[in-house]
This record gives sequence, C-alpha cells and structure tokens, in this order.
Amino acid sequence: MKVNCPECKNDIDTSAHSSLSEKQIIECDKCGITLEITGIEGDRVETEIVDEGK
Ligand SMILES: [Zn+2]
Repeated sequence: MKVNCPECKNDIDTSAHSSLSEKQIIECDKCGITLEITGIEGDRVETEIVDEGK
C-alpha cells in the first residue's frame, strides 16, 4: 500500500507496518511530517497532517 506525503510528495515506505488502519500515525521519512490515516479505500490511503515536524 502506498501513502503519498501531502507535503513533499514522497512515497512513504509503509513496509515497516504490517498493516495500515484508520487512526494510525505514520511519519514521512523524508520531511519528518506526522500523518494520521483518516481513511483507506482499496489502494488509496487518505491522510491528514497532525504535526508539521521541525
Ligand atoms: Zn514528506
């Protein structure tokens, strides 16, 4: 499953997570932003920024 960072457009590597679910918090390894998964539809993952990082 691919999560696209809304900030830097990086494809966040989610292989560290065995599965993704709503309300899960993930971090962009490129810009350090914190995202919360707000919805999953098939292969599409909706996210919301919860912390802009440094
Ligand atoms: Zn990013």
